[in-house]
Amino acid sequence: MTFATLGLIEPLLRALETLGYQTPTPVQAQAIPAVLAGRDLMAAAQTGTGKTAGFALPLLQLLTLEGPKVAANSARALILCPTRELAEQVHASVAEYAQHLPLTTYAVYGGVSINPQMMKLRKGVDILVATPGRLIDLFRQNALKLNQLQTLVLDEADRMLDLGFSEELANIYRMLPKKRQTLLFSATFSDDIRLLAGQMLNDPLSIEVSPRNVAANTVKQWVVPVDKKRKPELFVHLMRKGRWKQVLVFAKTRNGVDALVDKLQGLGINADGIHGDKPQATRQRALDRFKASEVQILVATDVAARGLDIEDLPLVVNFDLPIVAEDYIHRIGRTGRAGNTGEAISLVCADEVNMLSAIEMLTRQTLTRKMEPDFEPEHRVPDTDASGQVVKKPKKPKKPKTSGGGGKRNLGKWVDSGEVAPAEPSIKPVRKVPVFNTGPRKKK
Ligand code: AMP
Repeated sequence: MTFATLGLIEPLLRALETLGYQTPTPVQAQAIPAVLAGRDLMAAAQTGTGKTAGFALPLLQLLTLEGPKVAANSARALILCPTRELAEQVHASVAEYAQHLPLTTYAVYGGVSINPQMMKLRKGVDILVATPGRLIDLFRQNALKLNQLQTLVLDEADRMLDLGFSEELANIYRMLPKKRQTLLFSATFSDDIRLLAGQMLNDPLSIEVSPRNVAANTVKQWVVPVDKKRKPELFVHLMRKGRWKQVLVFAKTRNGVDALVDKLQGLGINADGIHGDKPQATRQRALDRFKASEVQILVATDVAARGLDIEDLPLVVNFDLPIVAEDYIHRIGRTGRAGNTGEAISLVCADEVNMLSAIEMLTRQTLTRKMEPDFEPEHRVPDTDASGQVVKKPKKPKKPKTSGGGGKRNLGKWVDSGEVAPAEPSIKPVRKVPVFNTGPRKKK
């Protein structure tokens, strides 16, 4: 199958040739004809599958061949993304695909001044890529009208809900014309996503491509058990031992990112961090410098790093495991892309055993553990397996007794209980998903 047989027009084929895309990926093979035929789409596909081209190519074709010229302060297609970086990335891809077409594209997001965005929208843009909050601001300030909108794309819809954008989505829903084409892409399909899809989509075609956890067998994954307080030391040790050149590191919290970056910089290591508290320009600069190999270690939270396409990244390190197991798949998906091999190393402490178990259940594999000499944890990480069960439950440290008892105790340590604790109920990732509120109006 070729892009030409999918019915794409010549200027798009020329752009794809320049980019070196020869064969459509599975999601493109399914999505392109469906979108060209005007169908709504509900697609289970993650970053790395080629989904951006899957929706952008047919969208560009429809906008070129059909519909009126864009009016002032209007957009003909809207692509909603969860994060600013993703909006920039999607916009860059769309602009590349559109290089031979007479269409205008633009990206808007928060964290930067709104005025230049308002100016830019004056003439209208054919394709607008936006994060939900800034889109609403622009709409409320009359800088943007949506009555000309032909197509709405919800990219990484699950992530938008995870980030608490359900209310914004409900507001945007009320701003949209009823007659439109809607394409929803999501890595996972929770009940809330299905609810959202039920409200936003009209007789959608469902497409599904292999989840990343199947594709991720190009990524060699293992776990190094370690005590929590020794993680920074272990990281530096592994980095030096393995002569790591470029690493994307994930930490759980903003403070965690800052602390690790400070520690690394203090050791003269070329490191930078990105998280949601940093100004957009700083985040983008850190990312650009990392992509240009000017920064060796980039430490990020999940929010900042979601969906980023960084070519040929050989190694991802989970300094902390993610709270939501699916994020593990996204994280390790930053390496091993496009058939390259990659490595993903997780530094896991006893506190994180339930997260490890949830990841193993989701990816249907027991991750290999490699003890690092001199870093064996005092607080043992209980055994886990892919059934989602913690095989042995650690006993809580006992308080020293003031009298009686006798004998030596493992004070302050996790100890293996001789009796195996009753199996935990099914261990599931803790996931707080806000309920999508439709507001008073319903789509017919
Ligand atoms: P995405 O899942 O949209 O983030 O795309 C992941 C990566 O695959 C991006 O770097 C794209 O440029 C690349 N890509 C998408 N489609 C193709 C294709 N058909 N052939 C080669 N590379 C592709």
